[in-house]
Amino acid sequence: MKTLLIKNASHILTMDDKENELTNSSIFCRSGVIEWVGDYKNLKEKADHTIDAKDLIVIPGLVNTHHHLFQNLTRVYPQAQDKPLFGWLTTLYPIWQKLIPSDIYISSLIGMAEMVLTGCTTTSDHQYLFPNGSKLEDQIEAAKLVGCRFHAARGFMSVGESQGGLPPDSLVEDEESIIKDCQRVIETFNDEKQFSMLKVVLAPCSPFSVSQNLMKITAEMAREYSVSLHTHLAENDEDIEYSKCHFDMRPGEYAESLNWLGDDVWHAHCVKLNDNESDLFAKTRTGIAHCPTSNMRLASGIAPVREWIDKGVKVGLGVDGSSSNDSGHLLNESRQALLLQRLKYGADKFNGREALRLATKGGAKVLNRNDIGEISVGKAADFAIYDLKQIDFSGTSSDPIAALVFCGPVKTKFTICNGNIISENGHMKKFDLNLSLEKHSSASNRLINN
Ligand code: ZN
Repeated sequence: MKTLLIKNASHILTMDDKENELTNSSIFCRSGVIEWVGDYKNLKEKADHTIDAKDLIVIPGLVNTHHHLFQNLTRVYPQAQDKPLFGWLTTLYPIWQKLIPSDIYISSLIGMAEMVLTGCTTTSDHQYLFPNGSKLEDQIEAAKLVGCRFHAARGFMSVGESQGGLPPDSLVEDEESIIKDCQRVIETFNDEKQFSMLKVVLAPCSPFSVSQNLMKITAEMAREYSVSLHTHLAENDEDIEYSKCHFDMRPGEYAESLNWLGDDVWHAHCVKLNDNESDLFAKTRTGIAHCPTSNMRLASGIAPVREWIDKGVKVGLGVDGSSSNDSGHLLNESRQALLLQRLKYGADKFNGREALRLATKGGAKVLNRNDIGEISVGKAADFAIYDLKQIDFSGTSSDPIAALVFCGPVKTKFTICNGNIISENGHMKKFDLNLSLEKHSSASNRLINN
């Protein structure tokens, strides 16, 4: 059984229940699980591999709760740069229509690598387009090579323009094939065990692109298979208007009417939820993926994260799609969340530790997992390890943990998932990043220029 020792780390942010922060401490892991944490002098075991963690800061691997990896092929697209959500989407749909399976693979590989290099060890992805024969396995294959945990959200759209929806008809799938493929991917790929590296999630794109009936069927299917549910909700004012106009309900009421609330459900954004809806989310233990950069980029609004946390709503962070971010840096999202909540509520109303909690344990709870997001005995050996000697940390010895979000944003020296080093000093362990970047670039050029 493979063992790993992280020896004498200068700082460890555990995110355990007592919010312990350790100095000059070590972590011993066996077969991908943390077995011991403490003073190296007291360790009885010898490890197969040791990382000398002097001058390093170790935190739980970051957890990303919302993304659309394919969008990194159309970052900063000029015609969509300055539009709010609906205009941004309708500008990009015609380009996304040309995606082929190898595009889904390479965008997933690069997008996951980008997150791993910045400290993320678990990501979900909301893939709601499957044009030209693309399949969920195009992403799953990429996740295996990257070595991170993956919550593959099988998304879909069923209401095209001709039926009053937003996407072009050519990008929507018929309901029968959606249902069949959802069953297929759950039965083929979902691993529900503890320390799972791959979970399947059912994820209709949004209330403005999926029928009411299919939303209900999806909820029933998810409960039958015990998988989670995910979608976009209450992202901006246009979204609220659509809900009132088409369903005569606010988004929270709509979600409730479809049985889309509960511990096994998380919604992206929720910027415009009102007080009653937030209470409902707290009461039902429904999770929220807060995506601050995307919300600012699309001018959707400032989500009331402070109030959500105080009410007991489960909140994690998402980078959101790379065409509305246009980055995949979760530690930076943590920083953005910190700054945005301070802007809304005041400088003393949101602190750095809370922002880091959103990116780690908060995200784990949103994904309905209790085995990640924390450095404690019995939890997964997933770590983001940063070098305190890099320029971004210079002058921060009074509080290097806070520096993770107040300074930077920084990349990791090591990212470890399931006890394996998956990136080191900016290099991915299992593939040549430069070669893959070339492929990514040519895929992007083909989509944009043809
Ligand atoms: Zn999204």
